[in-house]
Amino acid sequence: MGRPRSEIPYEERMLGYRDKQKRRRDNYRSLGLCSCCGSGLDIPGRVQCSVCIGKAKEAYSRNLDRRRDYQRAYQRRLKSDMVEAYGGECLCCGETESSMLTIDHIFEDGAEERRGFMGLGSGAYRTLKKMGYPKDRYQLLCFNCNVAKYHQGVCPHSGKAIFDQKETP
Ligand SMILES: [Zn+2]
Ligand SMILES: [Zn+2]
Ligand SMILES: [Zn+2]
Repeated sequence: MGRPRSEIPYEERMLGYRDKQKRRRDNYRSLGLCSCCGSGLDIPGRVQCSVCIGKAKEAYSRNLDRRRDYQRAYQRRLKSDMVEAYGGECLCCGETESSMLTIDHIFEDGAEERRGFMGLGSGAYRTLKKMGYPKDRYQLLCFNCNVAKYHQGVCPHSGKAIFDQKETP
């Protein structure tokens, strides 16, 4: 060898490391030991001991929690971006509480609309963001006003919101 560690490129170092790990695992496995820590196997048919399997499971669920937290933060950001882009309040009644606001298709002519207002989730927010938050077909409404619109075609508040005049059969 002779080469100082710092002169070996990272990829090469990682390759050497992985290679060493793989050789160690193969060695343990050929000896009938836990491929992870080299202690005796205690679960028939598994190549890892119960301790290592437990640790792996724990790490997996920790990662899952972290991924879920990240997802939630991302959804919150998407929602608040959307709310801000559409004026921050229900166009009909002026509700500003973000959790009560939802995006409304002004004209009911798509598959999503047929599913009703509950069908509009974070997927729709992402699409809106990609489209640059178009204002001609979408408006911000609170859930109350949105429900009123879907059931009666118009909200009793009749604020600045646009309601589709088309008769729904
Ligand atoms: Zn083990
Ligand atoms: Zn409202
Ligand atoms: Zn209203």
